[in-house]
Amino acid sequence: MKLLVTGGAGFIGSAVVRLAVSRGHEVVNLDALTYAACLENVAPVADSPLYAFEQADIRDADALATIFARHKPGAVMHLAAESHVDRSIDGPGAFIETNVMGTYNMLQAARSFWEAEGRPESFRFHHISTDEVYGTLGATGQFTEETPYAPNSPYSASKAGSDHLVRAWHETYGLPVVLTNCSNNYGPYHFPEKLIPVVILNALAGKPLPIYGDGSNVRDWLYVEDHADALLLVLEKGALGRSYNIGGENERSNLELVQTICTILDKLRPGDAPYADLITFVTDRPGHDARYAIDPTRIREELGWRPSVTVEEGLERTVRWYLENEVWWRPLLERHGVGERLGKA
Ligand code: NAD
Repeated sequence: MKLLVTGGAGFIGSAVVRLAVSRGHEVVNLDALTYAACLENVAPVADSPLYAFEQADIRDADALATIFARHKPGAVMHLAAESHVDRSIDGPGAFIETNVMGTYNMLQAARSFWEAEGRPESFRFHHISTDEVYGTLGATGQFTEETPYAPNSPYSASKAGSDHLVRAWHETYGLPVVLTNCSNNYGPYHFPEKLIPVVILNALAGKPLPIYGDGSNVRDWLYVEDHADALLLVLEKGALGRSYNIGGENERSNLELVQTICTILDKLRPGDAPYADLITFVTDRPGHDARYAIDPTRIREELGWRPSVTVEEGLERTVRWYLENEVWWRPLLERHGVGERLGKA
C-alpha cells in the first residue's frame, strides 16, 4: 500500500516510516521540518526506492492538494503535530494552527482526493492521537474509548479538537477514517527535550534530574516501535470510524521511571556515585494531570495486539541506544540548547 505519512521526520512518525518501508510499503513522508524534526531519523530507509520525502506544511492547503495529486496515496497516517505540552503552555497559538487547522486542511485535502478518485472503499485516513484527550484519572480506573473527553492542556485540547474533526468528516462526508489514542511513547530518536532523553543525557552530563512536583504523576509507557506496529495493524484491520486506545500496560510514577533509568545507567555506565543522587524535585507544571492509564481491551480483543516489551526491557534498549548514538543527539542538544527541564514524554 502507498502511505502518506505526515510528521515522518519526528519521533513516532519516523518509527512508522522505518517499519512501513521495512514491510514493503511505499511511503511518502510529508513534514515541514520544524525544530522537532530530524531527517537522520529516517536515514535507515532514505535510499530505499519505496521512500519519498515532501517538505510541506500542513497549514498550507494548496501544498497538500498538490502532494495528494502527485502521489495518489492509498492511505494517510496523520502524525504531524506540535507535540510538547510545556511549549503549548508557553505558546498555545502554534498548537491550534497546526493541530486543529492543519488537521482540517489534511481532512479537506484527503476528502477532495478521495472523492475525485471515486470514493475508493479501501482508502483510509488514520489520525494518530493521545490519551491526554481524556484528561486525568484518580488512583483507580482506566481510559476506555468511551471515556468522555476532558483535555486539560492547550496541547491535549488541540488534539481533542482534531479528533472531533476526524470523526465528523467520517459521519458527515463518509471519509473512511480510523483513530488511535495512545499513551506516552519512549525509545530511540526521542527528541532531547522530552522526559526520558532529558534524564539519560542530564545524568551522563552529571546535571540535576529535575522531576515535577513530588514525582507521583503516573503515566503508561509504550515503546515507540510497539506503537508503530500497532498503528500499521489498526490501519490495515481497524473498523471504519472506530477509535482504538493503545497502551504499553506499563504504568509507572515519574519518580519510579527516573529511578529505573538511573539503575540501568548504573549498570551500563557506572559513575562515581549512583545516578539517582542527581534527582531534584522542581515546581510542578500547571494543570499537570495526576494519572493516565489505558484500558487496551478493544485493540487486544478485536485486533489481537499486545505490546512486545516491558518498560524495563524497552528502557534498557533506549538507554543503550542513547549511549551508542551520541552522533545523533549531540548536534540536537547544541542546536536547541534543550535538556535543562523535564517535559512531557
Ligand atoms: P514530534 O514532535 O517528535 O514530531 C512531530 C513532527 O511533525 C515533526 O517532524 C515536525 O516537523 C512535524 N510537524 C509539526 N508541525 C508541522 C506542520 N505544520 N506541517 C508539517 N509537519 C509538521 O512528535 P511525536 O512525539 O512523534 O508525535 C507524533 C504524533 O503522535 C503527534 O500527533 C502526537 O500528538 C501523537 N502522540 C504522541 C505521543 C508521545 O508520547 N510522543 C503520545 C500519543 C500521541
